[in-house]
Amino acid sequence: MEITFLGTSSGVPTRSRNVSSVALRLPQRAEVWLFDCGEGTQHQFLRSEFKASQIRRIFVTHMHGDHIFGLMGLLATCGLAGNPQQRVDIYGPPRLNDYLQSCRRYSETHFSYPIKVHTVSPGLVYEDDEFEVRCDRLEHKVTAFGYRISEKDRPGRFDVKRAASLGIPPGPLYGQLKQGKVVTLPDGRRIRGQDLCGPPLVGRKLAYCTDTIYCDRTVELARDVDVLIHEATFAHQDADMAYQRLHSTSTMAAQVALLAEVRQQLIMTHFSPRYAPGNAVSLDDLLAEARAIFPKTLMAHDFFTHEIQRQELVAAAP
Ligand SMILES: [Zn+2]
Ligand SMILES: [Zn+2]
Repeated sequence: MEITFLGTSSGVPTRSRNVSSVALRLPQRAEVWLFDCGEGTQHQFLRSEFKASQIRRIFVTHMHGDHIFGLMGLLATCGLAGNPQQRVDIYGPPRLNDYLQSCRRYSETHFSYPIKVHTVSPGLVYEDDEFEVRCDRLEHKVTAFGYRISEKDRPGRFDVKRAASLGIPPGPLYGQLKQGKVVTLPDGRRIRGQDLCGPPLVGRKLAYCTDTIYCDRTVELARDVDVLIHEATFAHQDADMAYQRLHSTSTMAAQVALLAEVRQQLIMTHFSPRYAPGNAVSLDDLLAEARAIFPKTLMAHDFFTHEIQRQELVAAAP
């Protein structure tokens, strides 16, 4: 599971940062899930290793322009230039469907592939054999949702050699043992599947929380995740502005990570352009403020990529 930030500025793009979008690449699937789609996201795609035709799902947090103005352009481009485009499922707040339908109608845009818009409400948003996506309300000027993406746990690796040494005949019995079931062999021996499987592979978890001021629901959404992506529009000294505009400071983001017991990493994004290099307060200050509370904090920049590792691998690393 790998995340790539395609935009990390709040409100408006700057010379070095585009507005919000994060791409999630899933293991063993040639598909990309997108979280938010600010203006210019399709240009960021051109500058990345992704292809727009890989997009399978788009999760939208809220209707502010810096999170959705890139949607129509990106969707219109998908399926052009002969790229076969699979269906795109878009998840987001109630007015997203109206917005897209209107854009489509007034610009007379025709999509050559199916698009389905799902209106989300707190709870389960999407589920398949391997993944589950849930959402909950954030605290922002307009209705906004944070998302939690969980990879399902998988049974541990089946020890084929050991099974063979016990004289278990290959075939359907292996399948049952792999699932942890207890089987009785033709000679009457009872074998427990769990004795032949390694420790279960714990699924990776990611939370995406923007835009929001600190709230308890964010903490619950991010509970025990491996990686939390959280907005940090303002520095701690500008907390007044954060309260007025319902955005987070770097210290609020770190507080959420601390209380949620985030396992691997807090990655902050959605920075106000006021902290660009050369200003009195810079992004290094935001990072230092957050690390004082939650040391495992990183700042995202455009095209910053982070591999979410399995917890066992992180624990085993030197
Ligand atoms: Zn925003
Ligand atoms: Zn917003």
